[in-house]
Amino acid sequence: MSTLRVLFATSEVYPLSKTGGLADVSYSLPRALAAQGVDVRLLIPGYPAVLDQLLLIEVYENILVFPNSTPVRILAGIMPGGVNPVYVIDCPSLYVRDGGPYLDEQGNEWPDNALRFAALSKVAALFGNHVFLFKPHVVHCNDWQTGLAPAYMNYHPSLSRAKSLMSVHNIAYQGVFGLEVAELFGLPPTNMQRVVQLLGLPLESFGVEGLEYHSKLSFLKAGLHYADWLTTVSPTYAKDVQTAAFGYGLQGLLTARQSSLSGILNGIDTEAWDPKTDSHLAKNYSIEHLPAKGENTKALRAKLGLEQSSRKPLLGMITRLTYQKGLDLLVPVIPDIIQAGAQLVLLGSGDKELESRLLQYAKLSPSQISVNLGYNEALAHQIEAGADIFLMPSLFEPCGLNQMYSMRYGTIPIVRRTGGLADTVIDAHPANLEKGIATGFVFEEEDAHQLLECVYQAVTLFRNREIWRTLQINGMSRDFSWQSSAKEYCALYRRLSQS
Ligand code: ADP
Repeated sequence: MSTLRVLFATSEVYPLSKTGGLADVSYSLPRALAAQGVDVRLLIPGYPAVLDQLLLIEVYENILVFPNSTPVRILAGIMPGGVNPVYVIDCPSLYVRDGGPYLDEQGNEWPDNALRFAALSKVAALFGNHVFLFKPHVVHCNDWQTGLAPAYMNYHPSLSRAKSLMSVHNIAYQGVFGLEVAELFGLPPTNMQRVVQLLGLPLESFGVEGLEYHSKLSFLKAGLHYADWLTTVSPTYAKDVQTAAFGYGLQGLLTARQSSLSGILNGIDTEAWDPKTDSHLAKNYSIEHLPAKGENTKALRAKLGLEQSSRKPLLGMITRLTYQKGLDLLVPVIPDIIQAGAQLVLLGSGDKELESRLLQYAKLSPSQISVNLGYNEALAHQIEAGADIFLMPSLFEPCGLNQMYSMRYGTIPIVRRTGGLADTVIDAHPANLEKGIATGFVFEEEDAHQLLECVYQAVTLFRNREIWRTLQINGMSRDFSWQSSAKEYCALYRRLSQS
């Protein structure tokens, strides 16, 4: 069989630039694909951190991405530990600035995000239309930031072109823009048709059967409409997004395209997240040396000023502080959780009001609750190792990584039955305990009392050392590596390339 060539277009990749799970996937999945013989190359924007960390050479210059704009350069770089080469779009006016990939330092969206990610999409499409030397069989687009690529590929057909795959990592973020985009080109905001033309797409693309979403331009909808195949990052999420509750307005389109939609579960980076070798831990451990996990709990309590108590389970949570993550379920029952004899350590950042409510709780019970604001990779590893129980009461969860890290670290997850959480955690009800397959606690409804019931159940079982150890071993024995998912992607790429 000939070598499959895939361009993996993404707006963030660990360790160069990371705001969430997409960065982890963009690092680990291509590595797993390369291990299966796929010639996979990344395409990312040239943010300062990317330009600083990669050794780069210019491969293409003077690439005009939009009809009336500054040309960009394409560089190729070597990323230690990743798949190589990595293609980088060099356009300082779009990507070189202080702040994050999507937000400025104050947390506001960059006003020119439409241009920044239309440019990323356009360059991905140029690769897809076989303009450059690297001619992929498939352009794998990820989330709204690359959503216009399938549209560009569709309207600029060439003699040979790649197939497009649109992966949805989180449908809540869609990249919807209005007339303000015209101003980015220095023009008065007249009509959306003009905006679409400025972005280099034909007038006919701006319709309900195309890019239009309630009179605006939706990048994600474009991807979902024009891509040859669609995936979500877990099988359950592929069903969830077809419902009004989780489709965020795109459920109709996704239902219409269900014969070209599948869910492939994310894996995790089993090297970075391995309690046997994790260099962030106070003490490494494994199934064979589980008691050593307790050393990490002690060290974490000491570091965060929590009371040392082996009777009290330590509950951990690492999360973006947003509506999605179910903090509205957790916050009201924090006093009950402490009352039940548990402790809580939380690491996260996001919503300012949530941050201050959480800090207030920590101030009231500093020996039982530790709230750590900000992004801290080392502390995330230490919480996964040191906590006994991990909380993920998400209202929706496309896949979720932390529940898998938790199981790998012998830390028992409490999750709501949604998306990838439903696909990865097996509830500790008696039949599953009996069968030896239980790995955590699962509750059904968006209901704080159901979450609390699960916490009570977990606190009770925590005191039964035998059952607890079985739960830990069940989770630690599961294979969450990318291997089987990468095989599924390979099979999908192959099918697409031959269709
Ligand atoms: P999402 O992509 O929706 O944020 P995931 O569970 O898929 O959620 O992935 C989140 C990733 O980001 C995980 O690797 C998690 O450990 C990490 N993470 C989230 N918040 C923080 C934080 N404040 N500090 C360190 N790591 C974090």
